[in-house]
Amino acid sequence: MRLRPRSIRSRDTLIAAVLAALAFTAVAAGIDLAVRDAMRNDVLEETQRSARRVSAAVREGALAGPVIPNDSGDADDPGGRDRVQVQVVRRGRVVAATPGALGRPPVSRLWPSSDERIVDAIRCTGRGPGGDCTMLVVIRTTTAPDSAVVYAARPMPSLLVTGLLEVLLGVAVLALSGLIARVTWRVVGRTLRPVEQIRAQLAEISATDLSRRVPEPGGEDEIAQLARTANETLDRLERAVARQRQFASDASHELRTPIAGLRANLEDASMHPDDTDLEMAIASALRDTDRLESIVTDLLLLARIGTGGSAAHETIDLAELAASEIRRRPSCLRVRTRLTEGLTVRGVRMQLVRLLDNLLDNAERYADGEVEIEVCRAGPNARLTVTDDGPGIPPADRERVFERFTRLDSARSRSAGGTGLGLAIAREIAQAHSGSLVIEDHPKGARFALHLPLSP
Ligand code: ADP
Repeated sequence: MRLRPRSIRSRDTLIAAVLAALAFTAVAAGIDLAVRDAMRNDVLEETQRSARRVSAAVREGALAGPVIPNDSGDADDPGGRDRVQVQVVRRGRVVAATPGALGRPPVSRLWPSSDERIVDAIRCTGRGPGGDCTMLVVIRTTTAPDSAVVYAARPMPSLLVTGLLEVLLGVAVLALSGLIARVTWRVVGRTLRPVEQIRAQLAEISATDLSRRVPEPGGEDEIAQLARTANETLDRLERAVARQRQFASDASHELRTPIAGLRANLEDASMHPDDTDLEMAIASALRDTDRLESIVTDLLLLARIGTGGSAAHETIDLAELAASEIRRRPSCLRVRTRLTEGLTVRGVRMQLVRLLDNLLDNAERYADGEVEIEVCRAGPNARLTVTDDGPGIPPADRERVFERFTRLDSARSRSAGGTGLGLAIAREIAQAHSGSLVIEDHPKGARFALHLPLSP
């Protein structure tokens, strides 16, 4: 069985009620002890006062007769139930008493010694809370062996005897704990209401309807911040889903062109086998297959960038990396280099090589006659630039070219085997290495600038 309440509201209410009950019980126990103590002392004092008065009168021989007048008690209780009843006993016989105790046997057999002449005790008759209890004070009037003994008895207040005090305190504890529980239930309910509205709205928002937003309560408290963060997350999610859809549609479109070419080739060859130049058909089919392969390879690479964790990272000298790539690629253009050695970065070598390759491919494709590669330090970063003297990229397109499948010069790029993913891949790699890749102003041609944090 699950005893812990599910909702925060019930849980907080239960905790508040239990804590309040514990605290109030402790306070009630203290009050109970204090009240009992005070009432008992009052009764003892009153009884002792009467006993001493009569004892003094007996010692001085001032008792007028067998009837001792009452001197205390309640005016509303002339019968004397709540008054102190006194008896003077000599040699086992009651020789004087207050009106209520006259003609009765001695109230107690208690006989104080001459060393301890005053004794007090509480005597109870009957059992349980309904029984009668009496405060008894016994005084031996003198130390003489035949001394008279004064018995003063007063009933204990019923509040103490019946347990009524504890019942009243228990009811108060329950009532106050209940009140605290009710207040907590209301306050927590009111506090959590906006959270419930946010939850309900989020439950309704599905991947197909990401345009809806959760209600934002005013103010700056935690719930308002939660709502704002949830809406910002929904904004990002909506943009990501839109990008993903666009990407899927662009990727399908890109893949369709070579597939259509391949299909046309094969259909032609199967319908007119005699008129088909087999060598040309195969060469064309292979070109389309190559194109399909490069698109799929690039898509896979894009999906994998940044997912390898830091395990594959190594320390790489950027100038060395650039020099070895330039050596590896024979070029008919003039390649100028200005490489500062010793600038190391942490990264995945294969990916940084790919980034550099994409920039060099583009530079060679678009340059008129010269490409320049520079590696230098820029504050806390290593900076690598690839500059060509080609047509350049207009400022308005300098962000767009980093989007997937963007081609400014479609024919030239496709014919050169470009997938339209080169710069997107390059920027993703730079960002996965905590760096950046941008196009900078340059008097002639295009300049791509890569910044990567220097390794510590
Ligand atoms: P592609 O496979 O088409 O080269 P990229 O992502 O590498 O794809 O480049 C996207 C587009 O950016 C290219 O189609 C081209 O229009 C433009 N571009 C890239 N590099 C240069 C450059 N060095 N000079 C001029 N235009 C460039």
